[in-house]
Amino acid sequence: FRTLPPKAPWLRQKAPQGERYEYLAEQLSGLKLATVCQEAQCPNIGECWGGGEGELGTATIMVLGDTCTRGCRFCAVATSRAPPPPNPREPEDTARAVASWGVGYIVLTSVDRDDLPDGGADHFAQTVRSIKALRPDILVECLTPDFRGDLGAVRHLARSGLDVFAHNIETVASLQRRVRDPRAGYFQSLDVLRAARREGVHTKSSIMLGLGEADEEVVDTMLDLRDAGVDILTLGQYLQPTPQHLAVREFVTPEKFEYWRKFGKEEVGFRYVASGPLVRSSYRAGEFYVAAMLR
Ligand code: SF4
Ligand code: SF4
Repeated sequence: FRTLPPKAPWLRQKAPQGERYEYLAEQLSGLKLATVCQEAQCPNIGECWGGGEGELGTATIMVLGDTCTRGCRFCAVATSRAPPPPNPREPEDTARAVASWGVGYIVLTSVDRDDLPDGGADHFAQTVRSIKALRPDILVECLTPDFRGDLGAVRHLARSGLDVFAHNIETVASLQRRVRDPRAGYFQSLDVLRAARREGVHTKSSIMLGLGEADEEVVDTMLDLRDAGVDILTLGQYLQPTPQHLAVREFVTPEKFEYWRKFGKEEVGFRYVASGPLVRSSYRAGEFYVAAMLR
């Protein structure tokens, strides 16, 4: 019987609050829309959904089911070699629900679907097109798998009308094999991001800290991402989801996260860097997108 070690004090979670959060949560209960924010009990939900004064609220929706064909050692998602086939009505149903809700920036994400010929790229693309057909004003970010490095699938999705193409490199080069499923890889992820950027869309990636990476490796990863054309970077603390998953090697302090934020912005040249212990790839993505584009 193993239990998780205690977290650093700055990782204590806040209860979601705010009038806008309450309003959106109430509206959502009448819609058939499962958000990652609620299902993962994400600590950022109040900040993300609410947005700031006059800012875009952000929510994350999972498409293509809840069962992944891969098994990364940091992730608690259920896995199977043959998950159920995608629901062909999902793109339309998701679009209708999103269009009648009140969030202005939607992150669509999925598990890896190595069982599908295109890895699910067309299903993502259909969902983007359906949302944009109903509500062209809603901004859509797709946080995607690597499609096994199939750059045709990447280009197909990048041309769907999405606003931001996000794909997470997750960790530094030397830790890829320990952290991610062996089918994923550092250079494959860079190729995916580069291919999407060549289609003229904004790109975004994310690094988890606290897995044992050295500072120089974080710098190298930032430089490689920027070289691949990545515009927006997020950095957050890795948290061990269960005792069976990879242990946290270090709780990186808020001051160090702030150091990385400045470094990424001022020394590496990303358009926007969000960096903090509780920052996740989609954290306040709408606000940050607007800030990055106004730069
Ligand atoms: Fe939702 Fe992502 Fe924000 Fe968490 S960080 S509340 S999952 S949008
Ligand atoms: Fe989790 Fe993504 Fe890895 Fe699947 S590919 S196990 S969803 S991190």
